[in-house]
Amino acid sequence: MPTEKYDLIVIGSGPAGEKGAAQAAYFGKRVALVEKEPVLGGAAANTGTLPSKTLRESALFLSGFRQRELFGVQARLKDTVTVRDFLARERLVKENERARIQENLKRHHVTIFRGPASFVDPHTVAIQPTRCPSFEIQGEVVLIATGSYPFRPPVFPFHDPRVYDSDTILNIHEMPKTMLVVGGGVIGCEYACMFASLNIQVTVIEKRDRVVGFLDVEISKKLQEEMERAGIKIRLEDSVAEVRTGDQLKLHLESGADLLVDTILVSSGRCGNIEELALEKAGVTSIGKRGQMVVNENYQTNVPHIYAAGDVIGFPALASTSMEQARVAMVHAFNLKFRGGVSQVLPYGIFTIPECSMAGETEESLEEKKIAYVVGRAHYAQNARGQIIGDSHGLLKLLFRQEDMKLLGVHMIGEQATELIHVGLTALLVNAGADLFIQTCYNYPTLTELYKYATYDALGRRAKVVAAPQPAAQGKG
Ligand SMILES: Cc1cc2nc3c(=O)[nH]c(=O)nc-3n(C[C@H](O)[C@H](O)[C@H](O)COP(=O)(O)OP(=O)(O)OC[C@H]3O[C@@H](n4cnc5c(N)ncnc54)[C@H](O)[C@@H]3O)c2cc1C
Repeated sequence: MPTEKYDLIVIGSGPAGEKGAAQAAYFGKRVALVEKEPVLGGAAANTGTLPSKTLRESALFLSGFRQRELFGVQARLKDTVTVRDFLARERLVKENERARIQENLKRHHVTIFRGPASFVDPHTVAIQPTRCPSFEIQGEVVLIATGSYPFRPPVFPFHDPRVYDSDTILNIHEMPKTMLVVGGGVIGCEYACMFASLNIQVTVIEKRDRVVGFLDVEISKKLQEEMERAGIKIRLEDSVAEVRTGDQLKLHLESGADLLVDTILVSSGRCGNIEELALEKAGVTSIGKRGQMVVNENYQTNVPHIYAAGDVIGFPALASTSMEQARVAMVHAFNLKFRGGVSQVLPYGIFTIPECSMAGETEESLEEKKIAYVVGRAHYAQNARGQIIGDSHGLLKLLFRQEDMKLLGVHMIGEQATELIHVGLTALLVNAGADLFIQTCYNYPTLTELYKYATYDALGRRAKVVAAPQPAAQGKG
């Protein structure tokens, strides 16, 4: 069979692969996409973003969590939530998303190949379909979008069916009574909140001194308080030294403490998916720690026509950023003159219960940069919509530059935080300041109004700071 030639070969069909392929095909390029799994969509559709967010909605619904403060009564739909209840909707959402991706690639005339891809030389990729002979295709450009897999620290006995990572947790066969979540990062905290809302007794263990370390310290502390209020035990600056299997899982911690649990969910970071690619045959050597590929600002590896985007290049490893990186890479590869690079300010959404979100600078980063700033806060408890929906713990926190009240950072915890953050994100991107929020008329009663009241709060603080004699123009106002 003659070797088929394409303008672009994409390896992987997650958010980076799908959007990179569609971007190039939209501009008339001949595109092939190779996926090793029988289903399309990668971690976002099958094991990560969508399944976990759907499980979160199911947990909130089945536990009656959102109604708790509204009626002061237990609104739990079922006393005992079974695994079947919990997973039913997740399967439906996954299937719909896979179908959407298939349809999108078809609409863009992208040719899909099934089977693991590996390089033969810098322009040739071999595909090995299950129980069939392998074959080769050639591409002018190659986009590596192979994603990542959960890192498994050797201390955990993953052969025991009660020990899960963030992929295998979706196959949980029985609701445990107790669970240890290892790692207080985004994925660990999200799952801890979900399982705790279903009345499972959850403990989180985290090596560092706070949960979700990149959050603004105040929001991270508030998240920890909310998690503890939900019954989650949090052990900071500690880690697991030894695990013994028996009727229950017996853990010995570095701090000297012992724990007995039914289940362990290990969430200790991720590794780049590069083992099967035979990168050496393509001359690609730009590889960092845990298999993460190193790229330049155009997402090129050390071999200029071979690009990499998404989780395989590491932080921030989000579906949202993976898609953007792949689009930017393809604009560069084919000189499409269609758009610039990935936005300088990215939003981060953490779907804990309650959810958190942020964009721009934190208090810590401003202090490091020695930029004088003022903080403005608005609490859901003092907002009419917050009262109506029964969220009395939410908070919007804005950080303005003291000198001219330009917005520098937006931080939220509470209902709809991952949606509402986009108001602040847009303001950051257009370089707006306090005036924007003061002059805008917002719908009433809405949570968006929080932006106006947080700005009033900041202006009030600034007036006091500016009125007071200043030793040096730095730090918090
Ligand atoms: C539990 C969890 C929750 C998450 N929640 C969020 C969230 O709320 N918001 C958010 O933005 N992000 C979230 N993420 C992150 C998000 O899922 C990833 O950032 C995103 O899926 C990365 O996309 P990708 O295209 O780089 O890789 P992936 O989605 O991992 O896709 C890579 C694809 O490449 C295929 N592949 C690998 N090797 C080969 C090969 N040799 N040949 C052919 N195919 C290959 C794989 O089978 C896979 O289909 C979450 C992740 C997890 C684990």
